[in-house]
Amino acid sequence: MRITSSERVEKRRTEISFAASGNSVTFICLSKMKTYNIVVLAGDGIGPEVMREAVKVLRAVEKKFSLTLNLTEAPVGWAGIDAAGKALPDDTLALCKKSDSILFGSVGLPDRDPTIPKEERPERAALLRIRKEFGLFANLRPVQLPKVMAYACPLRPERQGDGLDILVVRELTGGMYFGQPKKTEEVSPGVQRAIDTMVYTTPEIERIAHVAFKAAQLRRKKVTSIDKANVLENGVLWREVVTAVSKEYPDVTVEHMFVDNGAMQLMLKPTQFDVMLCENMFGDILSDEAAALAGSLGMLPSASLGATTGGQTFGFYEPAGGTAPDIAGKNLANPIAQILSCALMMRYSFGLNDAADAIEKAVGKAIADGNRTGDIYNPADSNAKKVGTSEMGDAVAAAI
Ligand code: NAD
Repeated sequence: MRITSSERVEKRRTEISFAASGNSVTFICLSKMKTYNIVVLAGDGIGPEVMREAVKVLRAVEKKFSLTLNLTEAPVGWAGIDAAGKALPDDTLALCKKSDSILFGSVGLPDRDPTIPKEERPERAALLRIRKEFGLFANLRPVQLPKVMAYACPLRPERQGDGLDILVVRELTGGMYFGQPKKTEEVSPGVQRAIDTMVYTTPEIERIAHVAFKAAQLRRKKVTSIDKANVLENGVLWREVVTAVSKEYPDVTVEHMFVDNGAMQLMLKPTQFDVMLCENMFGDILSDEAAALAGSLGMLPSASLGATTGGQTFGFYEPAGGTAPDIAGKNLANPIAQILSCALMMRYSFGLNDAADAIEKAVGKAIADGNRTGDIYNPADSNAKKVGTSEMGDAVAAAI
């Protein structure tokens, strides 16, 4: 059901869902929908450990907000190979197709069975396959650094303001990574030429721009669009289309920034950014640069959004980090990235902004109370106490 912008502001934030469909993004009323079907794919390494804590937190959210969360676990990654001979077993994929969204841990263990070919290994056969299967074109990477964790940030405290809160919105299915032709050819004896092609169409730019502006409406209402319009034809088109889309969001400020300056400004004055809108390759690079500001991969969630069907945005939610084999099975991993992925799911797939806020506030409280897993522990902080994965999960769940 489409609603007008004046109706939109009347709706309670918890009753609207962020939904992307084709070239447009609309807010959809989901107030009657109280049951959510979520596939839980913990995967390998620290995946099952951090997922256990995320599920604890989801159960606390379910209780507090009177929701029904149908959580169905299924094997993926090496766990999928062990259980059913494939990194993405057919039954797991079928479950995903029936679900409202996917909560993913991480997959891949570099030292396991080198005889298995690359295309059958979990990173490609599970992760890339899911991204393709569900047309996940929008990648959202929030980077938050609470003030009490200023020590974890490589920037001097005076550059961090009252803490950092940036959302990188990256286009995920177009641009240089997928454009054709893409090949390496011999042009003369002993001389090879590699070709990658950067291609974007107007609809591709429009749909990701809508995602960024909608996300900004739920935040501080500013979009910084990143391009290279001074050199690239793609950049010129990107800027034109983003400018046109911005007219539909008069409540959101838009600014345009060249990517080289964007990389520099992230280091000089990161507090100026709310939402950074990037094409695929620029987003890949800048989201990692922004992530470094938060101090640990263990703090960073991500969302990948696909199209909308039946009034709901299909989403894939996962921590930014991998399976961390060096600390797996030791109760050392930080579960916060996985827990914050649940907050993104509440906000972007289900429109449950109160539940999302509650999870984020609970994480903030657990941190403010001094709970620190090893990756974010600072021995110089007298308020900090070192905790394990499960204690951190308990602290967040208790704060919901
Ligand atoms: P990694 O992200 O697993 O680990 C890098 C470093 O960050 C390690 O020191 C690790 O201990 C630390 N780290 C990561 N998450 C943490 C957490 N939650 N708490 C505390 N510390 C954490 O990257 P890697 O070692 O290069 O890759 C290991 C495996 O994970 C590889 O097989 C890789 O392909 C896979 N991987 C999977 C995904 C995914 O499933 N989306 C993403 C990245 C890497």
